[in-house]
Amino acid sequence: MCALSTIAQSNLRAPLCEEVSCTDASPTGGASAVAKKFKCFYLQVPDAQEDEGRCAWCEEELEVGQTTYPCSRKCGLRACSPMCAFSHGEGNCVRRDLDSPSFGERFAGPNFPLTQAVALEGIAIQPPLDLKIASYEWDFFSESGKRKLDAMENDSSLAASHCAPECKTYSRARGKPIRLRSGKVIQGPRPLRSKERPWGLPNLSKDENIQLRQGTAMGRLRQVAVCRWSTHGIPSSGIHLKLLN
Ligand SMILES: [Zn+2]
Ligand SMILES: [Zn+2]
Repeated sequence: MCALSTIAQSNLRAPLCEEVSCTDASPTGGASAVAKKFKCFYLQVPDAQEDEGRCAWCEEELEVGQTTYPCSRKCGLRACSPMCAFSHGEGNCVRRDLDSPSFGERFAGPNFPLTQAVALEGIAIQPPLDLKIASYEWDFFSESGKRKLDAMENDSSLAASHCAPECKTYSRARGKPIRLRSGKVIQGPRPLRSKERPWGLPNLSKDENIQLRQGTAMGRLRQVAVCRWSTHGIPSSGIHLKLLN
């Protein structure tokens, strides 16, 4: 008690640090995070809103029985499409300041069914990426496409992802004859790779070389992304581009 009495007179107040950082306890300290602002001024969760049967973002009337996408922060509202659900979460949701782990899909296809299924469960999504999605066109081979992908990969809310690059240059079907509906048999496109030459066969035409390079770049993205996500503990999946023939 006597020893502690000196501390009783000490001023233990310390100024609030505006930057909070932390690392894991492993020898390498491999995982780290820095926060420079509060996500919310108060800890109380804003009250849920009344669902008035309109899309939470575009305000279009929702029909009875229509497929709708609930807000991932459970604010009580629904959206008419995955993209409206995304825009609502980023824009006018009363619970926007609450973190909501998201799912991201690359090479999602024109109708992005996996992203649709995830959004349907009320899970936050990143806009699905694909060249054929008109509303959110993404060209993997352009500079702006690479910047967009980079920003999404580094989004701290990204919690799971799926990557399904084009696999036609890896296909086992190449080189085999194709039977058309009319019964006519035609020769399919010739193989571009083999087990011995996975990065490409010699003597390909200019067009085939372009296809090959693009297929390899997309496959590489998938491998790099899966490695990066696994080191960050993010579950990921994707089409495995196995070398065939
Ligand atoms: Zn809408
Ligand atoms: Zn909401």
